[in-house]
Amino acid sequence: MIEREHIGILGKMNSGKSSLMNLLTQQETSITDSTPGTTADTKVALIELHGMGPVKLFDTAGLDEISGLGEKKRTKVLKVLKECDLILLVIDPDTPDFDVERLVIEQARELDKQLLVVFNLFNIDSAKKIENIIELLPVLKFYKALQISVIEQGVRSLMLDFILNNYESGKSETQLLPFVEPGEFYVLNIPMDEETPQGRFLRPQAMAVEYITRKWAYPIAYRMDLNRARGVGVYEEKIRFENFLQSFKQKPKAIITDSQAMDIMKLWVPADIPLTTFSIMMINHVSLGHIHEFFDGIKAMNTLQPGDKILIAEACNHSRIQEDIGTVQIPAMIKKRYPGVKVEFNFGREFQNNESLQSYKLIIHCGGCMISNQKLQARLRDLRNVSVPITNYGIFLSWAQGRDTLNRVMQPWM
Ligand code: SF4
Repeated sequence: MIEREHIGILGKMNSGKSSLMNLLTQQETSITDSTPGTTADTKVALIELHGMGPVKLFDTAGLDEISGLGEKKRTKVLKVLKECDLILLVIDPDTPDFDVERLVIEQARELDKQLLVVFNLFNIDSAKKIENIIELLPVLKFYKALQISVIEQGVRSLMLDFILNNYESGKSETQLLPFVEPGEFYVLNIPMDEETPQGRFLRPQAMAVEYITRKWAYPIAYRMDLNRARGVGVYEEKIRFENFLQSFKQKPKAIITDSQAMDIMKLWVPADIPLTTFSIMMINHVSLGHIHEFFDGIKAMNTLQPGDKILIAEACNHSRIQEDIGTVQIPAMIKKRYPGVKVEFNFGREFQNNESLQSYKLIIHCGGCMISNQKLQARLRDLRNVSVPITNYGIFLSWAQGRDTLNRVMQPWM
């Protein structure tokens, strides 16, 4: 997954948002027309902006549309705002009121988003009105602004310079596996079960191999037969694992495992070899290092009462098999330990709104390998706002194996 800066273009209907999108993408990404509401839904373009790198651009519907559908679009636009790193607020100085602009600025301030103002000059007198607008909306004084006519192709470089000179990327470099050291061996336990895809690694596994290699260390993949390890083949399977570990002249520096094999790994991995999971690795990476928030969240398991609700959240809609972790294994564990606690699900890229989130005692989130860090940050922000804790599959499955196992898998991240 390429890390992209997310830039949202927001404003009123017909303020020139789609023209600005087309100016930046240098093509007719968005249909431009003076008919109000031409941008029926959010349009997305993936581009490379010179000096900034990969960018995801969102051209949004006008926030002042008043139809019933307008309300839905408005909710969607505000959702885009939550997930953007930078907001480009397009203002047509010839419009009579600036309630939409006020709303965008208020939301951006509340969510601590960077915002740049683009006054789109439709005619030569438009610029004269800008002072009056600032009197009506004094907060505009605090934002960098550019005055251009976005339909002129010649202004593209002005626009790009404006963004590059004023936008500060907030992306911190979160290392995928910060404990990896050059010249050391790292074992990746990739168990085989019904869900294992034929012929390829899952995304987190492939990312770990690439990361370890790039660090001049050595990734070694091990395939465990989970069914045998839990059943009649346990003896042979255990010997095979022990032989594998003994074949190293130099002990592996750490083992990263699929979380669902934790019941086996906590017993088979010698205590002096650090152990953690792909799911924990992934959620730390996508949340930009907020693993402690997920670790704290697991404490909510100790306070559960019959009637409480837990939400299991998966960030994609992968095909689910009989022994699926999210829909079968974790709910079964909860049911066994906490009869009367209800489990609900949220699959895919859309997340529930704050009102419904409030009804949960805990969110248990997958590794999130299919969503952007902006989307996950927006989820975390919503949950903080409603004071609902969140944990993660890897942390939950380790916790289910006891406090010592949980502390052990968290150790490499401390
Ligand atoms: S987004 Fe979540 S559920 Fe989907 S593959 Fe990645 S970790 Fe699994």
